Amino acid sequence: MSLITVGTMAFDAIETPFGKVDKIVGGSATYVAYAASNFLQPVQQISIIGYDFPKEEIEGLKKRGVVLDGVEVVPDKKSFFWSGRYHVDMNSRDTLITDLNVLEDFNPIVPDSYQGSEFLMLGNLMPKLQLSVINQLKVRPKLIVMDTMNFWMDIALDDLKAVLKKVDVLLVNDGEARQLSGEVSLVKAARKIMEMGPAFLIIKKGEHGALLFHKNHVFFAPALPLEEVFDPTGAGDTFAGGFIGHLAKTKDISFENMKTAIIVGSALASFCVEKFGPERMREITKQDIDERIAEFVQLVNFDIDLV
Ligand code: AMP
Repeated sequence: MSLITVGTMAFDAIETPFGKVDKIVGGSATYVAYAASNFLQPVQQISIIGYDFPKEEIEGLKKRGVVLDGVEVVPDKKSFFWSGRYHVDMNSRDTLITDLNVLEDFNPIVPDSYQGSEFLMLGNLMPKLQLSVINQLKVRPKLIVMDTMNFWMDIALDDLKAVLKKVDVLLVNDGEARQLSGEVSLVKAARKIMEMGPAFLIIKKGEHGALLFHKNHVFFAPALPLEEVFDPTGAGDTFAGGFIGHLAKTKDISFENMKTAIIVGSALASFCVEKFGPERMREITKQDIDERIAEFVQLVNFDIDLV
């Protein structure tokens, strides 16, 4: 049982209707690692950081079983920086700044010790780099899951389509599914996107849950109705980490088990939004996760007698 995760390790500045932070740790791979390490260890991380990435964060991740042999440290450059502002509904946001910094000349190298990994989570990153990681693997993993965002659809669509041909599961939000497919209907969008490569597609709908598509099957997982959503940053990556973490732990990549995995992903994401940045992800225990998954089961559990 082994998992490689690829993505950004970053600083974020975030503004929500409830507050503002200027510089906290973030990044797609950071959130994925926090979530996935609840289910299996080691998590083999591939990323790049600058001189400014906090040592305590590195130590914290290592203590959780995240291996950082594939994380390049650039001594004279700053880490990737992203800044975003959420709208009042907290489901949508504007990107204010994307400073690539170290990412500009990132050339990910898969360490020999990572070869033979059965699961690959391609977190949100330049599609060309996601493809480079796939191409370096000597044995194709049992399952490749890919996350991406509108930013890469806008500036690197052809590269993104090349990666899509090589992955098993794509994770996008509803707006991104519409942008990628050119379809308004999510059902039509799903069909078109699956024709581009991935046999499975997950469309995240923020506080309205997530849809899992495969062939002619569709499954819906709700999001837990929360009294307070403080900061949705990283919820998508945390969802991805929980999803692939569960699949890697159980080693079962059937559609049935993916249904459970999207409930697990949704449960993890529901913690992430409770505090700014990855703070809540550092605190939660296995018991917290189990209790929250039980709340999801309760949320959708009903009997019906059709006469
Ligand atoms: P999410 O809210 O799940 O979409 O993820 C937000 C995280 O993704 C933040 O912590 C950012 O640092 C990171 N991020 C934002 N834009 C990008 C990008 N273009 N590529 C990779 N990571 C990004």
